[in-house]
Amino acid sequence: MPSDFDKPYDPKAVEPEIYEKWEKSGFFNPDKLPKKWTKTFTIIMPPPNANGALHIGHAVFVTLEDIMTRFERMRGKKTLWLPGADHAGFETQVVFDKKLEKEGRSRFKIPREELYKEMLSFTLENKKIMETQLRKLGASCDWSREKFTLDPEIITTVYDTFKKLYGDGLVYRENKIVNWCTKHQTTLSDLEVKYVERKDPLYYIRYGPVTLATVRLETKFGDTAVAVNPKDKRYKNLVGKEIEIKTLLGPAKIKVIADGAVDQKFGTGAVKVTPAHDPNDFEIWKRHKDEIPGPRVVIDQYGRMDLREFWDRPNSKKYHGLKVMEARKIMEEDMQKEGLMVKIDPDYAHAVATCYKCGTILEPRILPQWFVRMTAKPSLRDLAVRAVKKGEVKFIPARTEKIFMHWMKNLRDWNISRQIVWGIRIPAWYCGCAEIIVSPDPPAKCPKCGSKNLVQDPDVFDTWFSSGQWPFATLGYPNGKDFKTFYPTDVMETGHDILFFWVARMIMLGLYRTGKIPFRTVYLHGLVRDKDRQKMSKSKDNVIDPLGVAELYGTDALRLALVIGNTAGNDIIISEEKIRGYRNFANKIWNATRFVLQEIKKSPPKAEKSDKIKLGKLKRLVKETTRDLESHRFHHAAEHLYHFFWHYYADKVIEEMKKKPNPLLLLEFHRTLIKLLHPFLPHITEKIWEELPGPAGGKNKKLLMIESWPKP
Ligand SMILES: [Zn+2]
Repeated sequence: MPSDFDKPYDPKAVEPEIYEKWEKSGFFNPDKLPKKWTKTFTIIMPPPNANGALHIGHAVFVTLEDIMTRFERMRGKKTLWLPGADHAGFETQVVFDKKLEKEGRSRFKIPREELYKEMLSFTLENKKIMETQLRKLGASCDWSREKFTLDPEIITTVYDTFKKLYGDGLVYRENKIVNWCTKHQTTLSDLEVKYVERKDPLYYIRYGPVTLATVRLETKFGDTAVAVNPKDKRYKNLVGKEIEIKTLLGPAKIKVIADGAVDQKFGTGAVKVTPAHDPNDFEIWKRHKDEIPGPRVVIDQYGRMDLREFWDRPNSKKYHGLKVMEARKIMEEDMQKEGLMVKIDPDYAHAVATCYKCGTILEPRILPQWFVRMTAKPSLRDLAVRAVKKGEVKFIPARTEKIFMHWMKNLRDWNISRQIVWGIRIPAWYCGCAEIIVSPDPPAKCPKCGSKNLVQDPDVFDTWFSSGQWPFATLGYPNGKDFKTFYPTDVMETGHDILFFWVARMIMLGLYRTGKIPFRTVYLHGLVRDKDRQKMSKSKDNVIDPLGVAELYGTDALRLALVIGNTAGNDIIISEEKIRGYRNFANKIWNATRFVLQEIKKSPPKAEKSDKIKLGKLKRLVKETTRDLESHRFHHAAEHLYHFFWHYYADKVIEEMKKKPNPLLLLEFHRTLIKLLHPFLPHITEKIWEELPGPAGGKNKKLLMIESWPKP
């Protein structure tokens, strides 16, 4: 009978067939593994955003997490890798906005319910594609436990957490100055702000007896004070006094105040205070509330001048409705004509806050938003810092701990309100009195004023607020059997770019809600770059589609290419040549198997003389591979196996056997190597295992995925 091994290796035929066998076996589900396997090993998969195809970064996490999962499963652990999909709030909103734009539509013109429905079906469609793709990458995760961030039970957990935080005074709603994207019409958290270096004119303007410097000339209409440093001798006699100034809207009076936050070295040491449009000025106003007028809004939510407050003043209509940058230019000219401009420094370099998605310069706004209190006592921050200091959560690479601690030190309260429809709606109700009712269902009436006219907060949660609860939410906290069995989980493996967005928040919220850390080890991988170390992007035309190359060269080859040379926290270099190289390796393994099968057929293994030197080398390899995998040095284990197989086993041992056959030794080598290679190249090794005789002769009956790991 001709065997598959008479032909060259064909991953396209083998890989889907093998995956189906695994899935049918039920062994992805820890409950279906042998009863005596009791020690658990758990990874919660970072749920990919269900708004597009998987990219190469996803293939990295699938590969690394699958290696760990398969290794621990073969070591006899009750292994759970729980998959999921993320509705991905603002991220998906941005993707969907672009889709609408192409269709000549705008989300701002679609009724809420309708838009939500449309986005849900878009997301569920993508989710299905994503699941197929995860299967294609060989992920041995338990599909029976798959979760979606908008599953009703997840939302219930998120609501419970919000309610508890509210009860503990750790979330609050306040009218504060926040980051606002005029294109996306939503606020953003501090982490979603991208600072870019820009050169802009710095204007020195005349304010009565004072000259002050500003870049954002247009905010001038919203000034409510002039501030100087209390130590600044130049302005000592002006502090506390009202000065008369000439403005583009006519004469006005403004007060000079002293505040320690003013930098004496910036410009002339005197600055204007615009509390409605600058976060620092907002803080200054809060400290001087009794002395100066409150915020005066002069820019609207679309980034246009709003001067209705000055309607009775000459010229106000001239600037009203202009875009910020247009207004700045015209005001510059007008102020020069009026003699209000002292000088202009044309190339002032400064950092500008922009939207991390669209690059639009953010216009700070004052809005009532929900904030998570991060640094109050007892604080979420302290919980996390303490756990990390005690070594309860370990980072790989270790240098991450320092970065983590630094960020925690500089934390500010976290704005979790978003003005989009895509997400979990904030379960807070208002009626017009000061009372806020936090409840998932509409309350019958306000307990304070009795009003039955309650409206729900229109905003949704920052998606990271809900995904920050992912490990315990997916396991059914507090009463789920899975929570009791699998929490705390073992490893959180994810990209280092979301250390603060996600990992830090999971640690804080996990500890707050369950009293336990969510995971013991955090493994962070780097960014995937091309062979010239360039970031992959459509515009550079250097994007490698993981599914495309898997189709061409096999998933196993792609996986090995993503592991070898990939050290924790550092960029991962990949190219098609590299993947092709590992396809050749798969062929090498396949051809070696053909030889082994032929040899064994010729003379079945019996008690041949053992070869202590060769077996000693093999034993050492088992030991080192095990140690490398235990300490998460996947690249090291993979490289080692590759070289051993190719340059020692194939080039030396097999060549020698051609002259001096020793089928028993040959089979021992082959069985051990196939087992060791399984976590890295799961499909081809499983296929080979089917054909390979067991130590007592006859084909292997058990799947390789649950075979026992070679004893070191
Ligand atoms: Zn934006």
